[in-house]
Amino acid sequence: MSSLSFSNLELEQYSRHLTLPGFGMERQIRLKNASVLMVGAGGLGCPAALYMAAAGVGQITVVDFDRVERSNLQRQIAFSETDLSCYKAERLVERLRGINPFVQYVTHTTRLDETNVMALVQNKSLVLDGTDNFITRFLLADACYLSQTPLLQGAVQGFSAQVSLFPHHNGIDPCYRCLFRQPPQNPAATCDEMGILGILPGMAGLIMATESIKFLTSLGTSLAGKLLLYNSLDLTTRLMTLAVDETCPLCQTQVIQKPEPVDIETCRSVHRHQKERHEDLTMNNGENDTLTEITVQELALLRQKQPEILLVDVREAFEHSAGAIPNSVNVPLSVLEAVGSHREQLLQQFPQNVQTALDTTQETGSRDTSVVLYCQKGGRSFKALELLEQHAFNSLPVSLAGGYLAWKENNT
Ligand SMILES: [Zn+2]
Repeated sequence: MSSLSFSNLELEQYSRHLTLPGFGMERQIRLKNASVLMVGAGGLGCPAALYMAAAGVGQITVVDFDRVERSNLQRQIAFSETDLSCYKAERLVERLRGINPFVQYVTHTTRLDETNVMALVQNKSLVLDGTDNFITRFLLADACYLSQTPLLQGAVQGFSAQVSLFPHHNGIDPCYRCLFRQPPQNPAATCDEMGILGILPGMAGLIMATESIKFLTSLGTSLAGKLLLYNSLDLTTRLMTLAVDETCPLCQTQVIQKPEPVDIETCRSVHRHQKERHEDLTMNNGENDTLTEITVQELALLRQKQPEILLVDVREAFEHSAGAIPNSVNVPLSVLEAVGSHREQLLQQFPQNVQTALDTTQETGSRDTSVVLYCQKGGRSFKALELLEQHAFNSLPVSLAGGYLAWKENNT
């Protein structure tokens, strides 16, 4: 290990690490030799990547297909107003380059899916999962397990955060599927629009960066096999020991011969479900008892056939007035939740034509595409749907997958 690995400018840049007892040149070289994949350039990815670049991780690849929106500035700390509408991955890497030009950066503005995930995770020293949806999370966890790539996961919800490390190569610690067998059925749980304390992902992202640097340099005790829970309301942390599930379908039964195809049965079934759903919708002229969501493309088709479709925006009033699907009415989920235990009061929150549609179909619990609920991304409308379901309305509406943002993308 020698200082020849670094230029004079790098030696100056990392001088506080080099003089730190217990860190020094050897660990700085380990950081330089590391290659990290950051999935998600959002609330977790921004702070984690800023500090990993600053620390001198040799190669950082950032994957995110999303663009910067104003509501991101509340917590996605690498971005400013001039970045609005730009690709997050590109703007984040630009910030990182400003902090540390000696790092090699790779940017991907494509969506992570089963066609590219293996190529992206392979040969990485560590993968950081800063995504906000379960399908990507499972896809990434499976790919990391199959390629034996260490995975560091962070997650935030409301006022609390959790971080866990899955090293995948010691044969002792559990994998992600030991903890969660399948993605949750309710996509509302995956939606970042349910609200988040802005500082929280910052805290979780810094824990992820700390754990990354420790892991890459073999410093201290790692979070392998542990789950760190952080509660911002009382500033407490809890460290839980995770157990291997002896019936885990991934790490307990599967012999790894080759790292493909990725075992993403769940994702495949979701895709299959979407395809079948589309066929059902087309064949049955919009009537399907199990249908809960439709896409913006399906909505456009349905509106051609049934121009009288009623659209209900369940976002807050301020969001509705900032931009909404034309001819939609606004009934915020928060209002529905406030009266949720009274069926009649719940019904009265809707305009008369929606009330009639919800309450007059003969068949109990049937799905009816004459009422479509939507929100910003699809999470809140799904929750509203569940609320209506609990009260056994005669006819149940459907939710617009991807919400207003998906509609806007298709209509601009
Ligand atoms: Zn497992």
